[in-house]
Amino acid sequence: MVILKTTREFSAMRHAGRIAGNALHKAGAAVEPGISTKELDDIIRGYIESQGAKPSFLGLYGFPASACISVNNVVIHGIPSSNTILKNGDIVSIDVGALFEGYHGDTAYTFACGDISPGARRLLETTKQALFEGIKNARAGNRVGDIGAAVQKYAEARSYSVVRDFVGHGVGAKLHEEPSVPNYGTPNKGVRLVPGMAIAIEPMVNEGTHRVRTLSDEWTTVTLDGKLSAHFEHTVAITSSGTHILTLPD
Ligand code: MG
Repeated sequence: MVILKTTREFSAMRHAGRIAGNALHKAGAAVEPGISTKELDDIIRGYIESQGAKPSFLGLYGFPASACISVNNVVIHGIPSSNTILKNGDIVSIDVGALFEGYHGDTAYTFACGDISPGARRLLETTKQALFEGIKNARAGNRVGDIGAAVQKYAEARSYSVVRDFVGHGVGAKLHEEPSVPNYGTPNKGVRLVPGMAIAIEPMVNEGTHRVRTLSDEWTTVTLDGKLSAHFEHTVAITSSGTHILTLPD
């Protein structure tokens, strides 16, 4: 069941979203060769808790850290570790959720560590723009398939693939609510978008195959062919006066 939000709930979600967005970009500013993903996770947890919020991911389904930090061929759900030290040329996907006064915000961004290759740069730019193509289509009256189709079309036209096994989702008092929001689809198919919906749109775009596999830690999900993957995400509110991004940083 899709749970619609009131204007008051949207403003609480905007607060949670701002905390998540700020935490994400504080960690992003610290991305540099030599830092560990555990140190980035500590920055995120410290900031979120300093705002009186809680990291949404900590303990969720048993996840052991505050953020998912996924380097290079890791698509999502990378576990922060003091043994994972960033190197010049890495791309680093950071996914952050914050719970504030009962509501979540969920956002992700893939950062460049030092000087990255032109190919990696193009993947990041394409995935970021694919997110905005999705957001443009996330408006009242459209359907979920319009979002996925826009993301997929944009990424595939640039010869990338979109991950199928993980998808966007409704957001609210729970981090993961209905509906599912795939990054692929058919225009004018799927759940109708109506004012009051809050959804996380989160394209995961791969350089090579769209296929992924999960490692024996049961979290870390990597590309099947070992090529790069990028991930960008915003939580958005669909209203009768337009669609608003809830997870923008200050
Ligand atoms: Mg999400």
